[in-house]
Amino acid sequence: MSSTRAADPARAPAGARAGAAADAASDEFESLVRRMLELLGEDPNREGLRNTPRRVARALGWLTRGSEMTARDAIGDALFEETHGSMVMVRDIELYSLCEHHMLPFFGRAHVAYIPDGRIVGLSKLARIVDVFARRLQVQERLTEQVAGALEDVLAPRGVGVVIEAYHLCMMMRGVEKQNSKTITSAMRGSFRDDPATRHEFLRLAHGASSAFR
Ligand code: ZN
Repeated sequence: MSSTRAADPARAPAGARAGAAADAASDEFESLVRRMLELLGEDPNREGLRNTPRRVARALGWLTRGSEMTARDAIGDALFEETHGSMVMVRDIELYSLCEHHMLPFFGRAHVAYIPDGRIVGLSKLARIVDVFARRLQVQERLTEQVAGALEDVLAPRGVGVVIEAYHLCMMMRGVEKQNSKTITSAMRGSFRDDPATRHEFLRLAHGASSAFR
């Protein structure tokens, strides 16, 4: 099942629309980037910058294309009836997103787990669900909740746990310039919230992650 939400040309990313409306929106986007370069004191006509407006428009369209998608788009038909009743966890899912306050990247890892209640989802789809919500303007707290909420909606499992650990370039490159501080967020639903043993097992597995970012 694939459904693309009706696109509002004024806000949809460049890659998501077709035809003349897309061309017009893309032209407008490119001229805004050209103007931004001027305001930064640059000459948009110098050789290195000549194609930058088009590249930026395409890159931002790509990096925010998740806002045109739903978790169900990402899962497709990869849902299966299954009586497995123990925890399923995918750890160390690479994650790249854009902070909505500065439009600078934040990146790190997501650890996603659930306890099925009659239905499981293809494991690779857990990573796809993370991408759907990461590829838009985000804050890490909301991203974490949205991934948990989507799994709860689609699978109706006995519980869901999501931990995200990420570095924010807006903190590392500017502002407080704290290069080594990692932000950790978690969202727990169902038995992950209510059953201390489940919660403990999940957090032990998540924090035992062999992260390249520590
Ligand atoms: Zn930021």
